[in-house]
Amino acid sequence: MFVLRVIPLASLPATAPGVLDYFWSAPLPIGSVVRISWGRRQSPAVVTNCIDVRRAKLAVKKSSFALKPIDAVLIDTPQATESQIALAQWLATYYAASPATSLKTVLPPFFGKPKHRVTLPESPKLGAAVPTGTFVLTQPDTAIAELRTVIARSDGPVLIIAPERSTVEHLAHHLADTGPTVFHSGLSTTAHAALYRAVIAREARVVIGTRGALFLPWTALSHLVIEDPLSEIYKSESAPRYNTPDVARQLAAHHCARLTWISPAISTVHFHLKENGALRVVDHKPHWPTVETVSMEHERRDGNRLLLSRKAQDAILDAYEDRSPLLVLSARKAYATALRCARCHSSPRCANCRIPLRLHRTVEDMLVCYHCGAFHQVPKQCPSCASGPLKPAGTPGSQKLAEAIRTLLDRYGHSAGKLPILDGDLVRNERDERAVLDAFNAMGRPMLVASSMIFGHRYQRTFSTVIIPHIDALAANPDFRTNERLVAQLERIADLRPSRIIIQQWHDDELLDVTGRAWDKLYRDELAQRKMLRWPPYTRLVKLSVRHRDRRAVGRLATVGADRLRRAIDHMGATARSGTSILGPSNALIEHARGEWTQQIILKTSLTGERLPELLAYLPPGWLVDVDPRSIA
Ligand SMILES: [Zn+2]
Ligand SMILES: [Zn+2]
Repeated sequence: MFVLRVIPLASLPATAPGVLDYFWSAPLPIGSVVRISWGRRQSPAVVTNCIDVRRAKLAVKKSSFALKPIDAVLIDTPQATESQIALAQWLATYYAASPATSLKTVLPPFFGKPKHRVTLPESPKLGAAVPTGTFVLTQPDTAIAELRTVIARSDGPVLIIAPERSTVEHLAHHLADTGPTVFHSGLSTTAHAALYRAVIAREARVVIGTRGALFLPWTALSHLVIEDPLSEIYKSESAPRYNTPDVARQLAAHHCARLTWISPAISTVHFHLKENGALRVVDHKPHWPTVETVSMEHERRDGNRLLLSRKAQDAILDAYEDRSPLLVLSARKAYATALRCARCHSSPRCANCRIPLRLHRTVEDMLVCYHCGAFHQVPKQCPSCASGPLKPAGTPGSQKLAEAIRTLLDRYGHSAGKLPILDGDLVRNERDERAVLDAFNAMGRPMLVASSMIFGHRYQRTFSTVIIPHIDALAANPDFRTNERLVAQLERIADLRPSRIIIQQWHDDELLDVTGRAWDKLYRDELAQRKMLRWPPYTRLVKLSVRHRDRRAVGRLATVGADRLRRAIDHMGATARSGTSILGPSNALIEHARGEWTQQIILKTSLTGERLPELLAYLPPGWLVDVDPRSIA
């Protein structure tokens, strides 16, 4: 008789534990698939462990319920590798997520389907030492060189992960002679399944893919490379809300693979590891353009009330005459972040999300909610006080910047025509994105207005001059990572290899000096502040959110949740008490969306391993858990 530990693939009632034990008359390999019952519910489940009862007598005796048999064996051969299962278990613990959700994150959508059954070789013993890796600061050309070296030196499969599909395709283009196989979420099931089998058979020597490629059934891995580890795209938005670089370290550990980060910039946490000698940092990023900062307060005092400083105007006219490629990096999308009434200062807000609506200026003016996508006609006059028409307000968006450039060129008798704009509000899919870039390619005098979306094309595009009209707005979100994010954006701009960056600064007193690239001092100051305020890397952060249709009810739920956590922390002993603090409950940044109100709690904690899920298990059902959140807002 054997005790089978399984993770169900269907979500069972909240009362069911995430991992279940059943018994069966014959041993089954890890990764095989069975059918189990829980109450009246049935579900396929994956075997994660199989123990001979004779060796588990004590466990069986101690278990609080009588072990039941599985209903049936569905597939008696492993369909998932031990590494995939271990990754799923790690995801569940580290992100305090349900094992079923974590396992489904790892397994492909065609898992277990008759047409896609696989034959897995004996799983090698998994390594346990989690590497910090080597951090290589790169620009596009040195990044490609670094990747070539990695591939040439590897004696086994190489996996290269990049944040978005465009970068994956650019890297595959540059490395075409190494015969890479590409992976991204848009792959057809057939192509995905073919790659899945090629990885099992170790035929895929070089794989370049987006984050999902980490979950392929690797049976061996020689080198794992993460491109741009600071990219926000690496943070998954659905449970278990994993962060790709952390999963990569686990996968590298399993296969004792070498781990390399190739990155335009370093983060405060990486800097901290470097300072402590725990991370090797190599600088292959010699290029740094001339950076000129213009104070718009001075410009105003000198009588220039336009959006573009005189220096920026000259640069645009020079680029027009030289036919050299120019980029204007917009900190905001669409035409304007909001419309506002000059008299009562009210702004039209989304009925669902209660956030200010953005102004889009396409064929006709339109108000759009960037959160739920709802759109509305522009009211003829202020809906609150009817005193007159509303005016664009807030930081100008990419459309307004394009308008300002066209007006400037017209003033000098240059006909610019429609400037291509690349921003996530106006470009809704890859076809639109392609159309904008084709329009830019076709220009005799190439000029582009773009949001940070352009960074996905760092390996394929260069600009002679980059203008940042609103650096203040680039560093505006109220978060402890603000400065680090600004540095990363500037380093990504440098990857577009401009010889010159012109930065317009609207508030003289606020901004850090970015001209000289003196980041070390910045990171040391950051670390000192984070230590004082107990932010990562000195603590871990967990964002907990609860939602309800009724505003008062959500307040009550949030208070109950916070109380439960406080009592649990008391109950869990000294380390939990001294190492954990609760911020909130408070309203979420978007407090109302899709008919629901949201409140949140931020946990700062030093709890690790099983201790964090143990604490969060005290929360009533229905709370969303986000460990290492992208932002605390
Ligand atoms: Zn008004
Ligand atoms: Zn909305």
